[in-house]
Amino acid sequence: MREERRAGWARWGTPEHAKPLPEAVAGLLKQVFEVTPPAAPVALDAVSAPAELAADALAALTAVVGAEHVDTAAPERALHASGKSTPDLFRQRAGELPALPVAVVAPADHDQVLAVLAVCAAHRLAAVPFGGGTSVVGGLSPETGGHIALDLRRLDRLVAVDPVSRTAVLQAGLPAPRADELLAAHGFTLGHVPQSYEYATIGGFAATRSSGQASAGYGRFDDMVVGLTVATPRGTLTTGRAPASSAGPDLRRLFLGSEGAFGVITDVTVRVRPLAAERRYEGWRFASFADGVAAARRLAQDGPRPTVLRLSDEVETMLGATGRGRGDGGCLLVVGHEGASVDRVAAETADVLRECGGEPLGTEPGEQWAAHRFDAPYLRDALLDAGAFAETLETAAFWSALPGLYEAVREALFAALPVPSMVLCHVSHVYETGASLYFTVVTAFGDEPVARWQRAKAAANDAIIAAGGTISHHHGVGTEHRDWFAQEVGPLGVDVLRAVKRELDPAGVLNPGILVAPRPAP
Ligand SMILES: Cc1cc2nc3c(=O)[nH]c(=O)nc-3n(C[C@H](O)[C@H](O)[C@H](O)COP(=O)(O)OP(=O)(O)OC[C@H]3O[C@@H](n4cnc5c(N)ncnc54)[C@H](O)[C@@H]3O)c2cc1C
Repeated sequence: MREERRAGWARWGTPEHAKPLPEAVAGLLKQVFEVTPPAAPVALDAVSAPAELAADALAALTAVVGAEHVDTAAPERALHASGKSTPDLFRQRAGELPALPVAVVAPADHDQVLAVLAVCAAHRLAAVPFGGGTSVVGGLSPETGGHIALDLRRLDRLVAVDPVSRTAVLQAGLPAPRADELLAAHGFTLGHVPQSYEYATIGGFAATRSSGQASAGYGRFDDMVVGLTVATPRGTLTTGRAPASSAGPDLRRLFLGSEGAFGVITDVTVRVRPLAAERRYEGWRFASFADGVAAARRLAQDGPRPTVLRLSDEVETMLGATGRGRGDGGCLLVVGHEGASVDRVAAETADVLRECGGEPLGTEPGEQWAAHRFDAPYLRDALLDAGAFAETLETAAFWSALPGLYEAVREALFAALPVPSMVLCHVSHVYETGASLYFTVVTAFGDEPVARWQRAKAAANDAIIAAGGTISHHHGVGTEHRDWFAQEVGPLGVDVLRAVKRELDPAGVLNPGILVAPRPAP
C-alpha cells in the first residue's frame, strides 16, 4: 500500500490503472474547451523540506512505535500533507504543498495510539489521524502546521466475527477491499462501496460518516456501526454494548463524523451482511430528471427498495459517466439488486418503475455502470493531464426541497464558472424523506484554476445553505466546509462541539481547526 501511495502521487490511482479519456470527451475538450496539456507534475522525490521535529519529541515517538515507524523524510511527509480533492492534486502537481507534517508516525495498536497522543500533548505537537488519505474537504491539512500524521495503516486486522449477531470488529486502518476480503472468508460483506473504495479505510468511513454506492440497500456507513473504540488524549472510550439502547444520548454518534477532532477511532464494530448470492443491475430511461426523481422517491418511500438507485440528470446521461452516452435524451436511472430473491424484487421494482413512466433499457446500462463504477477518479486524472479541471460537490435535502436545491446549485455554479463549463448531476443516495445530489463540474484550467474553483464552490455552498440543503451528505466538513457547517448547526451547536473537544482534548492536540474553528482569543 505504501508503494501504491507513492505511485499515486498527485493523482488518484497508480499509473498502471490509468484510464484514457473516451474519444468523444477528448474531442469535446479540444474543440469546445480549447484545453492544452499542462506542464508535467513535480516528482515526489523532488519535494524537499527541512527537518522540523525536535530531537526530544523524535526520541519520545521512537520509544513508542520504534524507529522504523517514524518517518521524517520529505516525500513521505508530502504524501501525508493533504487528501485527494482536485485542488489537492493541483497543489501536489505544482509542488505548492500545504504545511507538511513534521513526521509520519505509524502506531501498531490502540495502546500505542494512546501513547503517541500523550507524547503529542507533552511536546505540543498536533496529531492528524490518516486513514486512506482520500479526504476531499481538507480534513488532513490542519491550518496550524507543525503536526504529525498519525498513519493508521498498521491497525489492519479483522479482530472478531460474531456470525450469530452478524457483527464484526474491524481495525480502523483496514482499507475497504482488504476488510471485505477478510469478511468474505466468513461469508460476509460490509456492503459499503463508495467511489473511494480502493483506498479509503474503515476508520475514515466512520470518522467522515461515509456513504457508499449501494446505500439504498445496505445503508450509510454510520448506520452500519454498532460500536467504536476511541483513543483520546484523556483515555479510552468504548461505545455500543447493545444493538439499541435508551441509556442516554448515543455516544457513538458523537464520534461518527468527528473527523479526528475528538479522538482516534482504533476499531469499529460493524453490522455485516451475508455475501450477495445474486446481483442484477439494470438501466431505466425517464423522460426528464423530475420524472426520474419522482420514481426514485416512490421506491424509497413505498418500496420495493433496490440495493443501488442512482439517477443521472439529462447532461450526465448524455455524456454517460464515462462518455458512453446513448444520445437519445432523457435521464438514466441505474437500479441494482443484490442478495437473495433478486428476480422477484427486480420484477416488483419494474412494475413500479413502469407505472412511473420508466422505459426499461435492460441490464446492459446497469452492467456498464457496475463495470465502470470506480473509473471517475481515474478519468479525473486524465482530464487534469489534458488541461481540464474536474471536481465534484454533494449535498442532500428533503424531497420537497430537492428541485429548488438542484436549480440553485446549478445557477450558482454557472454564474461563477467561465463559459463554457459543464455541470452534471445525479441523485446518489435515497431515503424515505429525501435524497442527496452529487454534482460534477468540468471546465478548462484558465488562470488560477484553484482560486476560481474556490469562488465557485463558495457560491455553491451559499446556495446549498440558502436552499435548505446540508453542506455535506458524505464528504464531511474538514476545513473547507467549516464555515458553512457553522451556519448549519448555529453558534450554539458550534459551542457544544467546542465544549466536547475541550473535554476530550484539553491541549488541542487532535486535528486542530477541522470541523469547528478554534475559539477566537478573547
Ligand atoms: C475520488 C473520490 C471518491 C470519493 N467517493 C466517496 C463516496 O462515494 N462516498 C463517500 O462517503 N466519500 C467519498 N469520498 C470521500 C472519502 O473517500 C471519504 O471521506 C472516506 O470516508 C475517507 O476515508 P479515508 O480512510 O481515506 O480517510 P482520510 O482521508 O485518511 O481521513 C478523513 C478524515 O477522517 C479523519 N480520520 C481518518 N481515520 C480516522 C480514525 N481512525 N479516527 C479518527 N479520525 C480519522 C482524518 O483525520 C480526516 O479528517 C471520495 C473521495 C475521493 C477522492
